[in-house]
Amino acid sequence: MTHLQQLRTRLAEISDLNHVSALAGWDQQTYMPPGGSAARAEQSATLQKLAHEMFIAAETGRLLDAAAGEVNRLDPDSDEARLVSVARRDYEKSRKVPAELVAEIARVTGQAVDVWTEARAASDWKPFSPYLARVFELQRQLAGALGYTDRMYDALLDRFEPDMKTAQVQAVFEAIKPDLIGLVRAIAAKGQAVDDEVLRREYDEKRQWDFGLEVIKRYGFDFKRGRQDRSVHPFTTSFSINDVRITTRVDRQFLSPALFGTLHETGHALYEQGLRQSLERTPLADGASLGMHESQSRLWENLVGRSRPFWKFFFPVLKGFFPEQLADQTAESFHRAANTVSPSFIRVEADEVTYGLHIMLRFEMENDLLEGRLKAGDVPEAWNARMQESLGITPPDTAQGALQDIHWSSGLIGYFPTYQLGNLISLQLWDKINADIPDLARQIEHGEFAALLSWLRANLHQHGRKFTSNELLQRITGSGLNPAPYLKYLKAKYGEIYDLA
Ligand code: ZN
Repeated sequence: MTHLQQLRTRLAEISDLNHVSALAGWDQQTYMPPGGSAARAEQSATLQKLAHEMFIAAETGRLLDAAAGEVNRLDPDSDEARLVSVARRDYEKSRKVPAELVAEIARVTGQAVDVWTEARAASDWKPFSPYLARVFELQRQLAGALGYTDRMYDALLDRFEPDMKTAQVQAVFEAIKPDLIGLVRAIAAKGQAVDDEVLRREYDEKRQWDFGLEVIKRYGFDFKRGRQDRSVHPFTTSFSINDVRITTRVDRQFLSPALFGTLHETGHALYEQGLRQSLERTPLADGASLGMHESQSRLWENLVGRSRPFWKFFFPVLKGFFPEQLADQTAESFHRAANTVSPSFIRVEADEVTYGLHIMLRFEMENDLLEGRLKAGDVPEAWNARMQESLGITPPDTAQGALQDIHWSSGLIGYFPTYQLGNLISLQLWDKINADIPDLARQIEHGEFAALLSWLRANLHQHGRKFTSNELLQRITGSGLNPAPYLKYLKAKYGEIYDLA
């Protein structure tokens, strides 16, 4: 057996442990009775510990060295060479962080999430403030252990968006901010030209569920290799390329969570189901980065699911499910309602235009906190000032302001920007897709998505983690991260819907 084969066997077993751990996590959020939570926490911790210890063991390093010798005559872009280099990168990163620091971060964030939950319920920043300070102190230590050359944030961002640099993200965000703020103001000046009242009528939950399934069947979601269940917070997870799970939630008084949530998670799932089968049980069997993953969810949710051609086809179908609720609507009026823009306090409820501003606020504040320009106690005030500056509104309380997201209490610093990177990347891909499939809009109008999915599989999905998101963007579009297609799309789409000059 070659060393590469031995390495593959070892990595496959680690992948098995991680996937069973994911299965335990999926069950916890879908079907597990509350009584199971203490035992499940122990079981998950044990599985993760076993996988981690097996991965950082000296034996893995020995096999990586020996396998590198065997693949060095191969094409550096071959699956084998990339498998070894990606695993090597993961290995080095995992070994750099001392076990005591990992344990301390787990302990502090465990407490911080509990304190945050209560603080948010009471809308009171004070009890959470010292925990946030401690979380950021530990993140500074983590960045120091991982290492960085330019910005401390680089080390944290790299965990979610390998190879992307803070300066690169910052330059792009700063470039688009004035245009986004300008667009939000121009739309606000139009008053209530468009509203989403029709989405907030009473809709039977079972029918909402069935309509969602009908859409994603047409999208190409493979039900023989995946399924959808309910959960409080929607998510996508996978235990294999051939077993991908999505979840959604249904609100009887609001159509959007189930409908657009299902389309969003399906975008993630199509990426996972589209990985090349030969990558199964290797570290390459995953998305290139969180940003690239989000580009896929946003593409199917927004670029397809909130488009006029989509509703030309699906409005009559939806009306078949809800003839009374939609009696006064047309495909056109419904499409407008689904694209209502309105500055709001809560990120997860934000529309396509305002969403990016929510993310940029968090990215800027994370850097300020990390680099010592902002103190934990001053966060709510700084938050409100930035909300006023970018969206023209001030949260009435901290629960709807700085306490709304779980990320900071969980120690997920460097995660937020990937949401907006996903939006930007989705439009870069969309431009290229429309150039390659000139009649795509007509196909969508007829409920046909096969050419679109084939394009994504051939150009993006199949590669998994072989290439970083920067490399993929170069290979697919010929350029690096570029915000121009995103701005052009928003200005054209909302300029038309809101009749902006
Ligand atoms: Zn997502």
